[in-house]
Amino acid sequence: MNIIAGEDQGELTTKSYKVSAGRDVIAGSIVIVAGLMFVSTGGTMLSSSIASLSGHTGGPDNLLVSAFLLNIALILFGWRRYKDLSNEVTERKAAEERANSLAATDPLTGFLNRRAIAEKAAEMISTAERKNKSIAFLMLDLDNFKTVNDVHGHSAGDLVLKEVASRIAKVIPPNSLLARLGGDEFACAFTFDADQPEIVDRIADDLIEAIASPILENGNHLVVTTSIGLSRFDFETSGIDLLMRSADIAMYSAKKQGRNRYCWFDESMEQELQVRNFLESGMRAGIPKGEFVPYYEKQIDLATGTLTGFEMLARWESPSQGLISPEVFIPIAEETGMIGDLSLSVMRQSFLDAKSWDPSLTISINISPIQLLDPWLAQKIVKLLVETGYPPNRLEIEITESSLFENLSLAQSIVGSLKNQGIKIALDDFGTGYSSLAHLRALPFDRIKIDRSFVTSILDNQESKAIVKAITGLGESLGMPITAEGIEDKDIETELRLIGCSKGQGFYYGRPLSIEQNRKILAERNLLPAPTEQLAPKTENPAVAANPIDQEIRKAG
Ligand code: C2E
Ligand code: MG
Ligand code: MG
Repeated sequence: MNIIAGEDQGELTTKSYKVSAGRDVIAGSIVIVAGLMFVSTGGTMLSSSIASLSGHTGGPDNLLVSAFLLNIALILFGWRRYKDLSNEVTERKAAEERANSLAATDPLTGFLNRRAIAEKAAEMISTAERKNKSIAFLMLDLDNFKTVNDVHGHSAGDLVLKEVASRIAKVIPPNSLLARLGGDEFACAFTFDADQPEIVDRIADDLIEAIASPILENGNHLVVTTSIGLSRFDFETSGIDLLMRSADIAMYSAKKQGRNRYCWFDESMEQELQVRNFLESGMRAGIPKGEFVPYYEKQIDLATGTLTGFEMLARWESPSQGLISPEVFIPIAEETGMIGDLSLSVMRQSFLDAKSWDPSLTISINISPIQLLDPWLAQKIVKLLVETGYPPNRLEIEITESSLFENLSLAQSIVGSLKNQGIKIALDDFGTGYSSLAHLRALPFDRIKIDRSFVTSILDNQESKAIVKAITGLGESLGMPITAEGIEDKDIETELRLIGCSKGQGFYYGRPLSIEQNRKILAERNLLPAPTEQLAPKTENPAVAANPIDQEIRKAG
């Protein structure tokens, strides 16, 4: 298995050898010259000593003796220097070889690193071309590695990475390139016969199976799965960069299709990526321009039918694409780190708007799991409340269970700070994901929101009904009232009231409305007591702003 970079030395190495070799030559020359002088002075001195012993002269000349001794000293000095230098060169050569190998290798797994696999795969391409073979490039990303790290600690995480590396090495063919690209991302490349791509499929299947089998760590059976992207190099496509990028795109597609699977790259994925990049750059420009705006969905007291407040749902009023759903832009905002700015921007608009509503009305805000990794989140929200003058006791923050996996203690501290200000906390989309009792007790939730997938199907699916009943019972015993979302008709509402849900929301009470549309409704119901002075211009797109009904139709579509 070729996992270590080759013997090629860098430019620096070559230079330092040249310098050392130069010094070797000088030290060697000193020894040689001193040797020659030794022979000549030694010879003269010897003959004069012999002459003196035989009584022909008065003994060797003092100058000659001094020159002779100096020669001996020079030889000793030169020899010592020569030895020192050759030791130094040997040590330096070993150190440079070590540094080169470290620079190319991932220390944890012994695999190549990202830079080294790109170089080695480029070499593989030229060999494969000569042998008329194709190359498969596999990009692997573990699906749930972060949870292992968070729940079982970093040493367990390291053990998992090492075990995964050894399983990959066992499955893939000899002479493959293996790399750990960083974190939980691995790559491998190998040659195969171009007309037998099924071999690559089989290897990908084997990898998925091998990685998914439990790893024993400290008495725990840890299970991680992997998503794999595959691309192939057939010489009509160009370059290692494209090969790696294609495998990467295919890997994201495998993730999107549900993880624990592999996916071959195809052109449509590239298009999808282009759309995503287009949206991302539009978002970067649109957030500071105020293109992301709050919409409101009514929340109703199911027992009395009164309006209690609204859930704020962000919308993107894109000047070029019209109204865009949060299901499209929130994941991009999360991946790119824009979520914090986006969220604060819509929150600000919504606080400025909602502070003039009737004081009985509350507002619920969705907070992404990524935001709960920001230690300053609570301070940012409180600062916004102070700046806008919106009362904290009329604010509810909705967080999902998945937020609690990333960093529970940080989430607890953020939630603690928010609760100290009088802000309420709701657990959103309960029933999906883990639905764990431990999570319900980990944070002082004020309310549970049942996911709309159970609510919309409550009349035709006994399981959904049982789940809604169970969650409502759980909420009752923990002192957490229930909001049911996704109420689409009167019959669902009646059923939920009978089960005991306290609040409800859904299309039955109307679609989410823009600030202006919502203010109209509030005014009709006398729920806008204070004169409004605070609304900033909301959109730069006159077409969108001028035609709210159009917006609603587009959104509904
Ligand atoms: P969510 O918090 O669970 O919001 C409820 C979603 O269900 C909303 O979709 C709402 O329009 C939709 N919905 C409400 N009633 C019904 C119904 O009766 N039937 C059906 N089929 N759907 C209904 P929306 O507005 O597309 O939001 C989707 C998700 O995007 C939200 O789910 C929330 O997780 C996220 N989101 C929205 N705004 C923000 C935001 O400002 N920040 C963050 N982080 N996430 C947001
Ligand atoms: Mg919500
Ligand atoms: Mg929800």
